[in-house]
Amino acid sequence: MDKCSFCGRERKDTNLLIAGVSGHICDSCIEQANGILEEEFKKKGGFNVEDITLLKPKEIKLFLDQYIIGQDEAKKYLSVAVYNHYKRLQQRSNTDDIEIEKSNIILVGETGTGKTLLARTIARMLHVPFTIVDATVLTEAGYVGEDIESILTRLLQAADYNVEAAEKGIVFIDEIDKIARKGDNPSITRDVSGEGVQQGLLKLLEGSIVNVPPQGGRKHPEQKMIPVDTKNILFVCGGAFDGIERKIGQRLNTKVVGYAASKAKDKVDHSNLLQYVAPQDLKSFGLIPEIIGRLPVLTYLNPLDRDILRRILHEPKNSIIKQYEKLFGIDDITLTFTDEVLDYIVDKAVEFKLGARGLRSICETIMMDMMFEAPSKDEKELVITIEYAKEKIDKESLARLKAS
Ligand code: ADP
Repeated sequence: MDKCSFCGRERKDTNLLIAGVSGHICDSCIEQANGILEEEFKKKGGFNVEDITLLKPKEIKLFLDQYIIGQDEAKKYLSVAVYNHYKRLQQRSNTDDIEIEKSNIILVGETGTGKTLLARTIARMLHVPFTIVDATVLTEAGYVGEDIESILTRLLQAADYNVEAAEKGIVFIDEIDKIARKGDNPSITRDVSGEGVQQGLLKLLEGSIVNVPPQGGRKHPEQKMIPVDTKNILFVCGGAFDGIERKIGQRLNTKVVGYAASKAKDKVDHSNLLQYVAPQDLKSFGLIPEIIGRLPVLTYLNPLDRDILRRILHEPKNSIIKQYEKLFGIDDITLTFTDEVLDYIVDKAVEFKLGARGLRSICETIMMDMMFEAPSKDEKELVITIEYAKEKIDKESLARLKAS
């Protein structure tokens, strides 16, 4: 009679009994063995920053180029900052007392221009834990909203509670501009979601040991806190800073004194003032100087024009179009979009002011019926024509109009 060679259970007492060369193993022994393996790997395989293969800044940029179109300036700044950050971590001994400071980053640019994508792609390249948090939900401790520490809870979760790995991770704090204080002057009333949060963020950004509730929130008061050292966590902050162009413009206009300065003024490209963003503009916008000081790498993202949108549609390694082609390819269907259709999708994204995020929803509208029907049909070559695309978009708009 067949039995598990490990626990001796007979076949009838198991859910599954697998035969080997000279014995058998049952499902519960497999499960147990798997548990032992995981434990052993965890013990052995602590996260090691030396294991991060560190590319040179130029190589990092090339990697980013595969996924993100344009934004060369931001890519350059980010590549250098990330390279320096992880080089600093990999430096074993410090013999000459020169301590390289951490280079947290702040990205300024309209929504949908690729700030999150940049941070996410860097994390993917490095294989380090990564999390995105929205600054708008944060409030000072004791008020409705999330405590600052919850940022690290998310990072811990992304690292599967491997504290060592989390301590070398990357946190993207989105909408940092939303916690700006309302004016350039310190407030006299309490500002629990503005300046208060900025003060709370300070200690995270500069590096300190923070007690993190592993389950997050205040719902589990009994949970044991996990101390996390933020010294080596790279913080990337992003924000649209609506209206900051005005402050940049004012600064550029008022600062010009003397010959050299007035020459510089002549060259100012007023169509894209964001490229001149400087720390003092963030201060005028309402970030406190201490925060700005701890985000020493400041760069900007350009608004996306038609050309860039068109390239985003099909050029990146995992572009929307490539994703559809792959999706259909799995059913052995060759899918093609005509150039006209690609132009049309971009036109619609511009018309509806949807930016890059809109490209995806427009494609979904065009492709929905096709995705529903094609797998049940025999056709193996599908071409999305301009007529087809227009029909789908017009139908959708009509349906929306009727609904409203
Ligand atoms: P942000 O964080 O600036 O609001 P995201 O990074 O979330 O914007 O971008 C939204 C989406 O738009 C991304 O998922 C990506 O598909 C697309 N996208 C935006 N900018 C670019 C770009 N420069 N290159 C490629 N895709 C982009």
